[in-house]
Amino acid sequence: MFSCRIGAVLSLRGTTLALALASALGATPLLAREMPEAGTAAAVKKPNVVILATGGTIAGAGADAANSATYTAAKVPVDKLIAAVPQMSTIANVRGEQVFQIASESFTDAQLVQLAKRVSQLLKQDDVDGVVVTHGTDTLEETSFFLDLVVKSDKPIVVVGSMRPSTAISADGALNLLDAVTVAASKESVGKGVTVTMNDYIQSGRDVNKRTNVVPSAFYSQWGPLGMVVEGKTYFFRSLAKRHNMTSEFDIDQIDSLPLVGIVYGSGNMIPGVYDAEVQAGAKAIVNGGTGNGSVPGYLVEKLKDIRAKGTIVIRSSRVPDGFVLRNAEQPDDTYDWVVAHDLNPAKAKILAAVALTKTSDTKDLQRIFWEY
Ligand code: GLU
Repeated sequence: MFSCRIGAVLSLRGTTLALALASALGATPLLAREMPEAGTAAAVKKPNVVILATGGTIAGAGADAANSATYTAAKVPVDKLIAAVPQMSTIANVRGEQVFQIASESFTDAQLVQLAKRVSQLLKQDDVDGVVVTHGTDTLEETSFFLDLVVKSDKPIVVVGSMRPSTAISADGALNLLDAVTVAASKESVGKGVTVTMNDYIQSGRDVNKRTNVVPSAFYSQWGPLGMVVEGKTYFFRSLAKRHNMTSEFDIDQIDSLPLVGIVYGSGNMIPGVYDAEVQAGAKAIVNGGTGNGSVPGYLVEKLKDIRAKGTIVIRSSRVPDGFVLRNAEQPDDTYDWVVAHDLNPAKAKILAAVALTKTSDTKDLQRIFWEY
C-alpha cells in the first residue's frame, strides 16, 4: 500500500526534475519524448548501472507526508525505488538487486564483506559500468570507506542514502538516487574512488561523514566535496589524495572475515574496565576516540600500555570531528608503540584497522597504512 503512494510522490517530484533537466539540455522534455527502447542503438550506448539496495531511509516509509523524521527505514524494495525515478533510464540501463533490507546501524562485518564481494563481482563483468549502493545514512561513511579500501576496480562505485523517507514532503531520495546513477554512469567518475552523492554534492566515500541527523545537508567532509551533480551532469573539482581501489593493497577477493576492533569514546572520568572488556571480547585493536588531539587521560596511560604489551593494537583517534591526530605530540606514540589514526574519525579508523589487520599486525606497517589511506 505504501509503495503505490511512494511512487506517486516520487513521480510528481521526478516530473519536475525531468522537465528542468530536459530544458537545461535544450531538449524536448524527457517525459514528452519517446524513451529509447531496449535493443535500439540509443539504448545499447547507455552505460549499465546496477543498484544494490541495502535499506535505510532512502527505502523508508512514514505514515504521513509531514513525517520527515518519524518513519520506518528499510521498507521499499529496490524495484519500487527504480520505478519511482524513471529519469534514470535516460542516463543508464539500470537494474537492481536487493542485497539486504536493513537500517544501516544493523550492519555487521559479515554483511560488509558480503556487500563488497558482490560489488567486486559485478564490476568484473564487462556488462557492468558502475554500481550504486543504496544505504542508510547512519553508517554510510563506514561502508563507503570500506568499499574504497577493498574493491579492486576503477569503475564508479557510488553509495547513496537520503535523510527523509520517500513519503515525506520534499523527500531527498529521488534526486540523490538520480544523482548517484548519473555519477555511476559518468566516465569522469572512473578512478575517483568510492563516492557519495547526497544533497547535490559528490563527496569522497573516504572523507565524508554524517554531521547532523535531521536535515538533507547532513554529509560533510572537512577537506571539501569532490564536486557536484547538477541536472544530470557531473562536475568534479578535486581528487582524493589517498590510496584507494586500484592503488589499494587490499582486495575483497582475499578477505572472508574481519578481525574484531573496538572503539572507546573519550570523556572525563572514564571507566578503565571498558578496555579490558573489549580485549576479553576478542578485540585485536582498540580505537581510542580521545578528546582533542586523541588525548589519553593520565590515569589510563598505564592501562593502554599494558593492553599493548599484551598484544592488542592501540590506535589514537579523536572525538573532535575535524583536524587530525599528530603522532608523538600529545602522547609519545613511538615509546608506547601506539598508532595514530591521522584524520580518520573513530568509526573510519575502526574500518581501516580491521582491513589492515587482515594483512599485518606490525605497528610500523599499520602506521604506514594509516598515513597512506
Ligand atoms: N538509522 C537508519 C539507517 O541508517 C535510518 C537513517 C537514514 O538512513 O537516514 O538506515
